[in-house]
Amino acid sequence: AADIRLAGVTKAYDAQTTVIPPMDVELRAGEFTVVLGPSGCGKSTLLQMIAGLERVSGGRILIGGREVQDLEPKHRGCAMVFQNYALYPHMTVFENMAYSLKVAGIRKAERAERVAAIARMLGLSDYLHRKPGQLSGGQRQRVAIGRAIIREPGVLLFDEPLSNLDAQLRHDMRVELAELHRRIGATSIFVTHDQVEAMTLADRILILNKGRIEQFDTPKAIYHHP
Ligand code: ADP
Ligand code: ADP
Repeated sequence: AADIRLAGVTKAYDAQTTVIPPMDVELRAGEFTVVLGPSGCGKSTLLQMIAGLERVSGGRILIGGREVQDLEPKHRGCAMVFQNYALYPHMTVFENMAYSLKVAGIRKAERAERVAAIARMLGLSDYLHRKPGQLSGGQRQRVAIGRAIIREPGVLLFDEPLSNLDAQLRHDMRVELAELHRRIGATSIFVTHDQVEAMTLADRILILNKGRIEQFDTPKAIYHHP
């Protein structure tokens, strides 16, 4: 796992509106941070700048001490899980999970081994030959998670990954994600507007309001102060 530091990071999509005013924050290696805030407050923008899917307008992002704001996404050591899964629809579950390993030049036998191990962990072993269209929402999200963790990234970014699931499944997946985080130990940032998710998953909650950090503390400190 890698620590993440934002130093004076700003974002403006156009000259009139600043979405993120200068932001300074440090996330410890292996820590699970939940970014909580209303729609439009800049949560996705923040994640996408860390992932390299959006450029910063100013400031520096350091991952494991290395400046990454000018690096391509694939060189940042981050993997992302999206709300709408973003799976490759024409590929099987196996291929979706194996793809990044293939691109990285990992040989076939090892790809199969690693996919099998992750699939076992996520309860997907019986679905490896299916395509995303033949899976339930929860199964699709498990595949997206599997695809994200298969290269053992130092940083895992979750953009409202449970928001499209029904209440029961959301609860179950929350429990699974917490367990998964303990097992793999990546530095995780999880974006949501769901307070229950924040309280169950977070080591620390970062409350964002109009791009500004309002609070950044443990769930206990935020919700149980006298
Ligand atoms: P959240 O994830 O908290 O809902 P976003 O980061 O998606 O918030 O959006 C923050 C603000 O930036 C919103 O006002 C949104 O309209 C604006 N925004 C997001 N993406 C773009 C974009 N590609 N171009 C212009 N404005 C954008
Ligand atoms: P390549 O495309 O280079 O042959 P892949 O790793 O993508 O290599 O695998 C090729 C095919 O074999 C894919 O369609 C994949 O679904 C299937 N496959 C390989 N190993 C397994 C496995 N252990 N379980 C399920 N399917 C597998």
